[in-house]
Amino acid sequence: MDKTLWLRWRYPILVFFLGAIAIVYSSQPISLVLFKHEVEKRLENIHLFYQERYLNLGQELVELAKELRYTCNQHDIALLRDTIEQSSGIQLLELQTPTGDCSVYGKNVRLIKDFDDSSASIHHENDLFNYSVSPYHNHRLKVQYRLPDAKLTLITEPVQNVFTQSEVCFGCTAMTLGRDGEEIDVFPRLDKKQYTHIASKYFGPNYAFNVYATESGITYVTESDLFITQLLLFFMLLSACLMIGLYRTPERTLKEMISYGLMKKEFIPYYQPIVDSTTGAITCCEVLIRWQRSDGELISPNQFIPIAEHNGQIKLLTNYIIEHVIDQFEGELIADSQFYISINVTPQQLEDDEFLSTTINLLKQRNVPAHRLAFEVTERIPFSDLAKARRIIQHLTDFGISIKLDDAGTGYGGFSYLQNLPIDTLKIDKMFVDTIGTNDIKSNILDSIILFAKHAGLKVIAEGVETKAQVDYLHQREIYLMQGYHYAKPMPFNEFKQYLQQDLMISKR
Ligand code: C2E
Ligand code: CA
Ligand code: CA
Repeated sequence: MDKTLWLRWRYPILVFFLGAIAIVYSSQPISLVLFKHEVEKRLENIHLFYQERYLNLGQELVELAKELRYTCNQHDIALLRDTIEQSSGIQLLELQTPTGDCSVYGKNVRLIKDFDDSSASIHHENDLFNYSVSPYHNHRLKVQYRLPDAKLTLITEPVQNVFTQSEVCFGCTAMTLGRDGEEIDVFPRLDKKQYTHIASKYFGPNYAFNVYATESGITYVTESDLFITQLLLFFMLLSACLMIGLYRTPERTLKEMISYGLMKKEFIPYYQPIVDSTTGAITCCEVLIRWQRSDGELISPNQFIPIAEHNGQIKLLTNYIIEHVIDQFEGELIADSQFYISINVTPQQLEDDEFLSTTINLLKQRNVPAHRLAFEVTERIPFSDLAKARRIIQHLTDFGISIKLDDAGTGYGGFSYLQNLPIDTLKIDKMFVDTIGTNDIKSNILDSIILFAKHAGLKVIAEGVETKAQVDYLHQREIYLMQGYHYAKPMPFNEFKQYLQQDLMISKR
C-alpha cells in the first residue's frame, strides 16, 4: 500500500512526459500556426492601408480617362503630372496614342520599360476599362489600361512586404497577387525552393495577396515566439498534471485500484474456522477477504475495506465474494449439513433491498440452502434506518439466513440493535477477549456482554482467542464457540478444505 503514492502520481507523470515529448516534437506545427496567425494579422493591416489608396486610384484614373484628349499634347501631359502629384499610389504614368507617346516628362519621353517578365499577367475587363496587371521592377506593379485608340500605363508604388527587412531571409518568403493559380509574383518565389501557402487576403473581388514561405522562413520568423509558446505549453501541462495528481487523492487512487482489482479478480476469500471448543469440531467459518495483487502482495482488509465501505464499492466486493465462496465449495454446500459460512456485511447492505434480492436470487440460482450462509454485521458503523433494516433482516432470516452482531461491545447501538433486530448470535470482539487474565477495566465489559447475551437467549462466539487460559475462562462462563489463532488462522480455500477433511475424520473416529 506504500505504493499508493506512486500509483497516485504515475498517470500525471506519464501524461507530463508524453505531453512534454509532444510539445518538443510538435515545434513545426506550432511554428506554422504562429506564423499563419502573424501573417494574417499583418495582411489585415496591409489591407487596411491599401484599401484607401486603391479606392482613390480607381477614382483618379476614371477622372483622368475622361479628361484626356489622347493626343499627347501639353494638355494631356499636364493631366498626367497632376494625377501623379495628387495620387499616393501611382509612381509613373505614360500614354501611348496613335499620334505619339508621352509621359510626365514630356512628349516621346518613355520611362516605363517593356520589362521582359516571363511571369504571367492578370487581365481584367469591365465596362470602363480593359486592363492587365503584371509585375514590375522593385516589387512594383505595372497596370496597362487599353482604351479604344490608346494605352495608359502606370507603375504603382512598391508593394508593401508583409515582413520587415530584418525578418526576411533570402527567398524564404514570397508574395503573389491574384487568385486561383492566376497569380503574378510581387516578391518572387525561387525555383529551387519548396514553398507552403500560408495565407491569402482578398483586396477586391479579383485580387488577393498570397503569402508563401519555406520551412526555414517559418522557423526564422517564429524562432523566439516558438520558445515562449513552448515554455507556456510546458507550464500549462505541468499545472494540468499537478491538478490531476492532486485530484487523485489516496482515496480516489485506492478506489480506482479496487475497481481494477475486481476486474482482474484479485480478491480472494480466506476462511477462519469457528470451533466448538468442547468437541474441537468446526461448526462454521468466517470469510475474510484478502487482496492478492498481481505482484504477489497480500493486502489485509483493514487497508481497503473502510474505503470500499465509504465509497460504496463494498456492494460489488461482497457480491463477488459470495459468488466466489459458492464457486469454491460447489456441490459441498448443497448436501444437508449444519456447517455454514459467515460473511461480513455492512449495516448499509442490510438496509438495501437490492442486496436482499440479489442474495436470495443467487442462492436460489445456485441451489444453495439458505442456512448454509450467515451474515455478520458490525456494530462499529451505525444503521441509518433501523425500521428498514428490521424489515430486510426479517426477510433474510425468514428465508433461512442467520444474522450475527459482529464486534459486539465496540459500538454504541449494540443493545438497541439486539432489541430491535432479529439477530441470533453475538460475536465478542477480540478487544475484550484480550483482557482475560489482565487487570484491564474492559474485562468487566466482557462479563457484562456474556451476561446480557445469556439473558437475551443469544448464541455467543468469542473472537480472537489465542491462549488456553482464554479458552478456560470462556468455558467457565459457558461460552463454547470460539474463533482465533489458538485454533487456526484465516487460510486460503485449499488449506481450509484439508482442515475440514481432517476435522471430519476426527469426528468420525
Ligand atoms: P472482523 O470481522 O472482526 O474479523 C476478525 C479479524 O480478526 C480478522 O482480521 C481475523 O483475521 C482476525 N483474527 C481472528 N482471530 C485472531 C487472533 O486470534 N488473533 C489476531 N491477532 N487476530 C485474529 P482480518 O482478516 O484482517 O479482517 C479485518 C476486518 O476486515 C474484519 O474484522 C472485518 O471487519 C473486515 N472484513 C474482512 N473481510 C470482509 C468482507 O468480506 N466484508 C466486509 N464488509 N468486511 C470484511
Ligand atoms: Ca467479522
Ligand atoms: Ca471483530
